Amino acid sequence: MRLILLGAPGAGKGTVAKLLTQLDGSVQISTGDILRGAVQAGTDLGKKAKEYMDRGDLVPDDLILGIMEKRLQEPDCQKGFLLDGFPRTIPQADALKKMLAGLNIKLDMAVNLNVPRSVILDRLTTRRTCSNPKCQAIYNVKSMPPKKEGVCDKCGSPVVQRADETEEAISKRLDTYNEKTAPLIGFYQKEGMLTDVNATSSDAVVAAIKQKLGK
Ligand code: AMP
Repeated sequence: MRLILLGAPGAGKGTVAKLLTQLDGSVQISTGDILRGAVQAGTDLGKKAKEYMDRGDLVPDDLILGIMEKRLQEPDCQKGFLLDGFPRTIPQADALKKMLAGLNIKLDMAVNLNVPRSVILDRLTTRRTCSNPKCQAIYNVKSMPPKKEGVCDKCGSPVVQRADETEEAISKRLDTYNEKTAPLIGFYQKEGMLTDVNATSSDAVVAAIKQKLGK
């Protein structure tokens, strides 16, 4: 399947993407995961992206588009992909449209994960993430803690609170979402590609997507 997952930070895009990869071998492409990996590895990209990420701002479009142009052409994308956190601005959505047309790839749909702001705030402050850039498994101190406190079940690396999940950065990320990313809902509606789902449970989102795709 070839999907765009839209939704505010904390709406569950990453969790839903990970569940969907188990269905048909489609890969999750999370620009946030790629950027966090680059920051930890101390690459040029990571150095450029870090300050924007830490304060909850978007990384400039040209950096993101450079990453995505390469990523979409890697062989593992042939079985399908789940775009998690990209596009995030109208110029990124326009660029993606051109990129996919050039690669002769057709998307199935853009799924908007609708979650009340109170749920989002609670989820983001209690979310914990595996610090291993290759794993980045997601936990929640209240609803899904790792079996051993602070240790990833999957790879044994430390599980941490992301630098951009302080209350100040979260509030900034939600403002940025409303201003720059929420307009994508209208963009994909106009394209006739939008599916809106009530996203308080990730399993319910996956079921709705499967039904829409006839899987
Ligand atoms: P995420 O893990 O998707 O919440 O992304 C974490 C941070 O990475 C965001 O707050 C942005 O600073 C940056 N980021 C991730 N994806 C994008 C994107 N498509 N465009 C711009 N910045 C991004």
